[in-house]
Formats: sequence, C-alpha cells, structure tokens
Amino acid sequence: MLSFSQSYTKLDSAFFQRVAPTPVSAPQLLLWNQSLVEHMFDNDPFSGLSSPEKANLFSGNQLADDCEPIAQAYCGHQFGHFNPNLGDGRAHLLGTVDSQLGLMDVQLKGSGTTRYSRRGDGRCALGPALREYLMSEALAALGVPSSRCLSVVATGEAVYREQALPGAVVTRLASSHLRVGTFQFAAAHLDQAALIQLLDFAIERHYPHIQGDVEQRALQFLEAVMERQLNTVSHWMRVGFIHGVMNTDNCAISGETIDYGPCAMMGSLNMQRVFSSIDQQGRYAYANQPAITQWNMARLAETLLPILDASPELALEKAQALLAQFAKRFETAFLETFAHKIGLQAATEADADADLIKTLLDTMQTHELDFTNSFNQLTEFINPDRTDTKDPAATVNEALRPWLASWQQRLSLQQSLTPAEVYQFMRRQNPVMIPRNHLLEQALQSAVDEGDLQAFQTLLAAVKAPYDSEHPAHFVQATDALAEQGFQTFC
Ligand code: AMP
Ligand code: MG
Ligand code: MG
Repeated sequence: MLSFSQSYTKLDSAFFQRVAPTPVSAPQLLLWNQSLVEHMFDNDPFSGLSSPEKANLFSGNQLADDCEPIAQAYCGHQFGHFNPNLGDGRAHLLGTVDSQLGLMDVQLKGSGTTRYSRRGDGRCALGPALREYLMSEALAALGVPSSRCLSVVATGEAVYREQALPGAVVTRLASSHLRVGTFQFAAAHLDQAALIQLLDFAIERHYPHIQGDVEQRALQFLEAVMERQLNTVSHWMRVGFIHGVMNTDNCAISGETIDYGPCAMMGSLNMQRVFSSIDQQGRYAYANQPAITQWNMARLAETLLPILDASPELALEKAQALLAQFAKRFETAFLETFAHKIGLQAATEADADADLIKTLLDTMQTHELDFTNSFNQLTEFINPDRTDTKDPAATVNEALRPWLASWQQRLSLQQSLTPAEVYQFMRRQNPVMIPRNHLLEQALQSAVDEGDLQAFQTLLAAVKAPYDSEHPAHFVQATDALAEQGFQTFC
C-alpha cells in the first residue's frame, strides 16, 4: 500500500482543519490511472488491491493507517474581489507520497463537508469529476505542467445541482496544494512567524535551491514562482487552453495547472474567447491569461511585503522592481510562444516578427479558422518529407495562403536549423489532437446519462497521444465555429 506522510500539520494549526471524509453509500471504481501509477512507482503499491478495495480507499470510506486527512484554509481574489474565508470546502488531503515524480499530495475532491464548506454540500457531480480527469491527463500529455488524477469513484449518491446528478469522488495528485491564496491567508489572518513558516515550507517543497536570510528567500521565492507561472501560462496559450477561473485561490505555488472547473479548449481562434458561464465580463478570456497571471503574482508579492524588507518603502521597491522585470516577459510570452509555433526558435527580428505573427492571428480570427488545425496545416506545409505531389499550399486554408511567402522568407533567415529540424520543432509545438469541447461534452453525456464510459475511454486514450498523427477523422475535425459561440461551461 501507499505510505502517506502529512507535512502540512507541522504548519500553524490555523492553516488546516483535521477532518475525515464523509463516507458514501455505494462506492464504485469508474476510472483508475494505471499508467500514472506505473510512472510514479517501480513497484505498483496497489497491485494487491481489488477494485472494491480501491473504491473504498479513494472515496474516503476507508482510510489507510498512516493517513491524517486535513482540509486546507486559504483566501482568494475571486474575479478580482477578495474573499478572506475560503478553503477546501469539499476536498480532503489524505497526505503526501514519495514517488518517482517527487513528493505528491493525494487529495480527494467531493468527499464531504469541512469547516470551509460555507453553504456547499461538500460533493462533486460525476460530470465535472470526469472532466477534471480527462482535461488534466490531456494537459499533462500536451506537456503543460498540471495536477493529475488517479481515480474517479462513483458514490452511489445523488448530488443536487438544479437537478439530481450522480455523485463522484475524484482523487487528484499535485506536487502540492499551496496556492497564492494560502499566502493570502497567512497575510490576512496570521502573524509574521506563520508567514515565514509557510514560505519555508513552500521553498523546501518546490524550490530547495533557495537560500539566504528571510528577505533574500522571500525575494528569490517570488521570482521562482513567477518563472513557473510564466512557463505554465505560455503553454496554455500554445495549446489554446482557457482555464476559466484564474482566481488567486486556483493559482498554484508549484506552477501546476490546478482546479479544473469550467475550463475549455479554443476551437476557432478568438482572442476574447470565454466559455465559462460565470465569467460574464470576460476577465479570464483566452488572451487575458498572461496579464491575469501577472496580476495574481502581484497579489502574491503583496503577501510577502512584510518580510521582503524591514523598511516598508524598500520592500515595496523590491517587489515592484521584480514585477516590472516580469511585466515585459509576460507581455512577450505570447509573442515567443507563437514564434515557436511557426518554427522560429526566437523572435529575434522583434518588430517584424510581431507583425508576422499578428497578421497570421488576425487572419485566423477574421476567418474564424480552427486554431489547432491551422497550425497543423502550417506545420505539414513545411514538412520536407511530404510524399504527396500536390501543391503544398493547397492543403493550407485559402485565407492563410497569402501569408505563406513572408513566413517562408523569415524562416530562410534562420540558418541554424535544417528544414527537417524546423519541421520537427514545429511538430513539438503544435498538437494534432486536443480535447475539443463538443467531443468531451458528448463523452460526458453518455457517461452521466447512460452510465456508459466507452466514449469517454476512447477519447481519453486519444488525448493521451496529442502529437500522434493517427487519429480518427472526427477527433481532429475543426470545431464548428457557430456551435462554439454558444458553448458554455459550468462549474
Ligand atoms: P473553486 O473556484 O471551484 O475552486 O471553488 C471556490 C471555493 O468553493 C473553494 O473554497 C471550494 O472548496 C468551495 N466549493 C466549491 N464547491 C463546493 C461544494 N460543492 N461544497 C463545498 N464547498 C465548495
Ligand atoms: Mg478552487
Ligand atoms: Mg473547483
């Protein structure tokens, strides 16, 4: 069996509540991530367990002997408004396991109420549990830092979300569940000693190279988190992922994508694309994501002000200098990401490259071209080993053809790479298969309405191989632009 440790209980007791999951009536194992288990462990720690035994453990009905479940406290800016009292309202952190992926927190979600539940029922519906499982596996396979899912267990109980829905518990693994909101909690409710304790906990877990006195540690930590977040949001932009609820409580200190709620994938390119039904102002629209990440990092910086310097003025100066240094990088993250997507290793011709990319993206947006498939067409256009004898431009959408010449001219300046290397580079940037919204919705519908997981399993297998070129035609077909406009996600 897994051996759990519980390191969070070393923190000030205000950071958590010791609380056990609420048992469910009829746990049944629906999904089990065997490939993740094999990735994490040389010897499968679950190999002796039957499905009912796994269902008992990962519904919270039975706890391992060394498991000390807790719910974590945090605050958060929700759509820009500060909420001082959040926390795991429907999640239980069973503990941390040591694995080949490093230390991983094991958390049940949908496992009952806690001190932080407010008016919530502590439960999770099957649809969102399956959505989180598939989307996090897809993002991980796409090369995006992400939490992972180990299992989904049906509870045999109904949850009420305007209608009765089947309930589920999803087990999530992440390198930690520390959030910007955890630091906001320390800053808002606790003393400086507790803040430093949290800082050192996070450093030990995620950034063990950081050393020095408290002021130095705090500054280096802030820089390290910004670096990770910048990397993650750049990947979101690359694959067309829209997180949907980038509240500070959903922003991980590790840089992993966490809290998959109303997230979705962009079909046809639209910079202002929003799918979440609760994001009415478009705060978390596709193209806003780098700026919002930066805003979240400013909130993290605020929490650290009291320990960045003994002088409040100097602390503010240090934070502002770092934020300013990153502002430019967040701005150019988008440009760099797209330079890579069109085969440029670096956007060295800054203004000209920005124009080239802008023209391409404007054309895609004007003609409502499919984001993923357009970049695939461009990638295959420069494939030096194309076997068909057709005019290569004929396979590129007509609207993009006038742009090809300026692009090819720019590529010819990049002499460090052979055409085959440019092609391979582009192939690694541009996925073939993404979890398109309509495919996922169809799969969730048959799982939830008919209890049939087959479509879900087929889609799951496909999204785990996003860069393979062999996928069924209906899996790689462009999302219908009109249908996409009306598509909404709910949490
Ligand atoms: P989210 O933005 O979905 O990550 O959740 C915001 C807050 O609401 C977190 O503190 C969650 O734990 C809490 N929450 C969401 N759904 C429920 C639920 N069904 N029962 C209790 N708390 C919930
Ligand atoms: Mg959350
Ligand atoms: Mg959520």
